[in-house]
Amino acid sequence: MILRAWRGDITTLAVDAIVNAANEALLGGGGVDGAIHRAAGPGLLDECRRLGGCATGEAKPTGGHDLPARWVIHAVGPVWMGGDNSEADLLASCYRRSLEVAVGLGARSVAFPAISTGVYGYPKAAAARIAVDTVRAFGADHPDTIEEVILVAFADDDLTRYVELLAADRGPVAGT
Ligand code: ADP
Repeated sequence: MILRAWRGDITTLAVDAIVNAANEALLGGGGVDGAIHRAAGPGLLDECRRLGGCATGEAKPTGGHDLPARWVIHAVGPVWMGGDNSEADLLASCYRRSLEVAVGLGARSVAFPAISTGVYGYPKAAAARIAVDTVRAFGADHPDTIEEVILVAFADDDLTRYVELLAADRGPVAGT
């Protein structure tokens, strides 16, 4: 699996599946959720209504409708409540479950927004580390499934954070 970071609007990406940072109702919202629904058109909301919501830490797929992406995987991130409410486990679960759903769909390329780091308030550096570590671990455990994962940054500092994490040598470093 190739893991890379890109700065821009996730709704423009012609990947197999984009992940939405949704809420439990799956009926649209602000931030990236609103942008995805606007770009996908009203058919997406119609399909979401039939899903009956989604638990935090879980993910459910729909079609991409008017998006260039074939599918949208709606993942529900945790609201940051200080860190003692399983936020890290729930955020990691979002990335893992989204990738499992993507494999089930037969998707080969998947793009993620920085789940929970907007309105839901998850600290960005901690969230970026969970994103990179969880996707990397999934790729190591599931070779020959998903070829490319793109971590989408919406702001320059988000991109810098991802690039630094991706460049970091995960092995033992001499002198440390
Ligand atoms: P949450 O409720 O999970 O925090 P938000 O949509 O508020 O979700 O924010 C999640 C992240 O998505 C934020 O880092 C925000 O900057 C980013 N974002 C917002 N719009 C877009 C977009 N069109 N493409 C990619 N990322 C986006």
